[in-house]
Amino acid sequence: MNWVMALILASRLNAVAPSLTLEMNARALELKSRGVDVFAFGVGEPDFEPPQSVLDAAKLAIDKGCSKYTPVAGIPALRAAVCDATERSRGWRPKPENVCVSVGAKHALFNLAIALVEPGDEVVIPKPFWVSYPEQVRMMGGTPVLVDTDESAGWKLSPRALEKAITPRTKAIILCTPSNPSGTTYAEHELASLVDVVRRHDCWLIVDEIYGELIYDGLPYVSVGKIAPDLADRLVVVDGVSKTFAMTGWRIGWAVGPSPLIKALDLVQGQSTSNATAVAQHAAIAALKCPPGDFTATRASFQKRRDAMVSGLASIPGVRCRTPEGAFYAFADCRGLYGLNWNGKAIASDENVALWMLDQAHVAAVPGGAFGAPGYVRFSYAANEERIAAGIASIRRAVEASK
Ligand code: PMP
Repeated sequence: MNWVMALILASRLNAVAPSLTLEMNARALELKSRGVDVFAFGVGEPDFEPPQSVLDAAKLAIDKGCSKYTPVAGIPALRAAVCDATERSRGWRPKPENVCVSVGAKHALFNLAIALVEPGDEVVIPKPFWVSYPEQVRMMGGTPVLVDTDESAGWKLSPRALEKAITPRTKAIILCTPSNPSGTTYAEHELASLVDVVRRHDCWLIVDEIYGELIYDGLPYVSVGKIAPDLADRLVVVDGVSKTFAMTGWRIGWAVGPSPLIKALDLVQGQSTSNATAVAQHAAIAALKCPPGDFTATRASFQKRRDAMVSGLASIPGVRCRTPEGAFYAFADCRGLYGLNWNGKAIASDENVALWMLDQAHVAAVPGGAFGAPGYVRFSYAANEERIAAGIASIRRAVEASK
């Protein structure tokens, strides 16, 4: 440990792991900067541009002089647009005082962690999980309670496992549907039975719906806000424009929850970032006003990409891959690749698999251990079908060459 680490940094960082997804991305970028054609299946970012109306709204906002602070929790028109969009696409209607707009969904979740989690509190998170949930809980001195799920049960948290994980110290439960990294999407009866468990306990239910539009095979999206209006005083829904509208860099997300909690988030945010960027808020309004039909073609294209990625991965000897219902990730069991020869050593972990793949096949993907599922590797299929096919062919060649 160097001088800075030993004397200056807060001890709350001791238990916090860096984001492995960003680290893998940095390695891939480094290879790319050396002129290597890298298959970028690592990062969780759509490869298309935001709708033209979003870009136009941002330009207009600049021209109109939207250069000043806004209310901390967002401009009234954006909070209203979030309510309209929630009603249209999720089937329930919050009020503007139930919405706090933040600098991306990750920031909304971080604000929630600050507002809700105290040292000693437990937060129940099913595995595999999105990397930031447990780390944000740890930063607040809380304990993430990571609950096993089975791939054979679609990686879904069972009501029994949830009941077993809840203790008097449980402050919140975090669900993500469709899930990053597994793509798992809960059906209505499955969510309803989890909600039944939550009803029996005094804790918050946080549902991350950021991939809510990315759901395939005609499955309906089921929002807890619709099926459990009785939980409105302790349900928080997190969402944003990053994934649906390919606006990851605009940094607009939000939390929808009971107004006393939203006031607390306003307080937290008012002492940290203040409002999300004014121009980006106007862009987000335009995004939320896009007719839902505009997304149909994008969804169909993602479904084709999913099928190409899943069947491609399954065609590689040693790889197994479940078909995910939503999001844009394939989560593949790569334990069958263990034992392959990489520079004279046998591959023995998902991290080895990911590094070997980057090195030998120039395919960037994220080892499953980062998501609490060692042995698996997450492949983002936010890339066109030709790139997916070429990346798969490259992995297949690397497997042959490493036998
Ligand atoms: N939740 C999940 C499950 C995600 O995958 C991501 C982005 N990777 C976020 C939240 C954060 O989204 P944003 O870019 O809006 O902060």
